[in-house]
Amino acid sequence: MTSQSDETTKTLDAHQRLNEFYGVQAIYGRADPMHELVGTILSHRTTHHNEVVAYRTLRERFPSWESVRDAPLPDLIDAIKTANYPEVKAPYIQNLLAHLIRETGVANIDFLRDLSTDEAMKWLTDLPGIGLKTATLLLLFNFQKPVLPVDTHVHRVTQRLGLIGPKVSAEKAHTLLLERLPADPLVLFNFHKHFYWHGQRVCTWYNPRCGECVLRDQCVYFQSGLTLALSSTPSRKNK
Ligand code: SF4
Repeated sequence: MTSQSDETTKTLDAHQRLNEFYGVQAIYGRADPMHELVGTILSHRTTHHNEVVAYRTLRERFPSWESVRDAPLPDLIDAIKTANYPEVKAPYIQNLLAHLIRETGVANIDFLRDLSTDEAMKWLTDLPGIGLKTATLLLLFNFQKPVLPVDTHVHRVTQRLGLIGPKVSAEKAHTLLLERLPADPLVLFNFHKHFYWHGQRVCTWYNPRCGECVLRDQCVYFQSGLTLALSSTPSRKNK
């Protein structure tokens, strides 16, 4: 049976190997936290290019956040139509802005910098349409708070390696992995970035390139012959 310290050692070892493979990055995020907040909503199930076009068109047509909040819904849907599910995202964005402006008087979230991590996380996740992933991305990238975004790539790679159990959700993985890592924003930023890149470039959804992987010798999914049933990975029988 694997102990807590074994899991921590394995997590830190994988982190160190990816640090060496990809190189340690300084923390960076979009300069404007409001851009990060709205851009993250637009990015859901959307390519980066289409998210960028949607955000740019939105800001060109509605230069102030108040005008986005008050825009006729069909016009807003049209402005962000390059993002997938614009009819879902447009009301999310308007609800979010209405809530934010009602609560704080302005469309600005810079005050989060001065809140504790727990306070800032609670404030963000209480907003309509903002889940754990968006909140952690914003707090780590823009405000250097010690949280760990677990997106689909981080979830898949950590599960294949066996750092988290085969049925552990991305939400639960956030807590489990965070407990094993130093509460250092630079460490958490690099852990997120490296696992994200590894999931995009090597440990891909359908055909992971295990022959190129620096983590292969510690990977339980590889050792199972890519047959282990994992909640983050499609069944190979369904390919
Ligand atoms: S060995 Fe294969 S399945 Fe395991 S982490 Fe590397 S690429 Fe992914």
